[in-house]
Amino acid sequence: MSTILDGKATSNQIKEELTQEVNALKASGKRPPHLAAVLVGNDGASLTYVGSKVRSCEKIGFDSSLIRLEDTVSENELIETINKLNNDTTLDGFIVQLPLPKHINEEVVLHAINPDKDVDGFHPTNFGKMALGMETFIPATPFGIMELLRRYKLDISGKHAVVIGRSHIVGRPMSILLSEKGNPGNATVTLTHSRTQNLAEITRAADIVVSALGVPNFVTADMIKQDAIIIDVGITRVPDENHPKGYVITGDVAYDEVKEKASFITPVPGGVGPMTIAMLLQNTMLAYKRNAL
Ligand code: NAD
Repeated sequence: MSTILDGKATSNQIKEELTQEVNALKASGKRPPHLAAVLVGNDGASLTYVGSKVRSCEKIGFDSSLIRLEDTVSENELIETINKLNNDTTLDGFIVQLPLPKHINEEVVLHAINPDKDVDGFHPTNFGKMALGMETFIPATPFGIMELLRRYKLDISGKHAVVIGRSHIVGRPMSILLSEKGNPGNATVTLTHSRTQNLAEITRAADIVVSALGVPNFVTADMIKQDAIIIDVGITRVPDENHPKGYVITGDVAYDEVKEKASFITPVPGGVGPMTIAMLLQNTMLAYKRNAL
């Protein structure tokens, strides 16, 4: 039976700390941090994510703006919007919610964001700094996982960490952070992906598994070692007519069986998801401190 790594409670703790910081700023006559989000189109999951980011800002006393664009917007129009945000001196940071419609090149868009306002940490300048262990905006999902490990005082130094998935926003940066010098850090990392052979053999040798592939219940109990630490990044909407929303949010890990074998495990929902939002807010505070103080 494993201990649950409670991302919801931990993220609430981080938000509480940020609230106190914002209150102190306001009490000294300063403006609060300001985060903007750009949302293109009406994708249900994206609307949910952006909605909770905006609500979290309001809850902790940050200013927030939501810029909504039609899914027919051209790449040039989107870049114009980004340029305005880049030059808006009342704004500390902003994000462009992914995915973008197919006719827009995500790389071009993300590279147009001023790295000083890139609180998602996706710009090559920030990604490069992260890879070099320099202070920067670390992509919120892997940052949240590192923070969860840190706050639960889980020592991964010298341990074998296996990351499943090599996306630029989760798997790849995760593999870099786990291997970096620091606490948590110093792990020996294997980065696996869709072309990996004998994946189960590799995960069975892992002291910590971070799964970020987006396939529901992919990681089963027979794929992990007794007492491994299991981090589930996956969020998939699985149709379920018994649920009022018509779907259930499902992680990559077969939670019920894996929790019997793992030492620590993140639930879905309530694990990595809330931590991601907390770290976006933390990155916004960092941007504010750089820009406004
Ligand atoms: P992605 O689709 O960009 O990447 C998936 C990765 O999984 C790829 O690198 C691919 O090589 C790998 N993969 C696919 N099939 C595989 C297989 N059979 N074996 C091994 N590797 C395989 O995904 P992403 O953007 O990194 O997101 C992954 C999941 O995490 C999704 O469910 C997404 O919704 C979720 N996510 C959650 C959060 C959060 O805050 N909790 C944030 C971002 C993404």
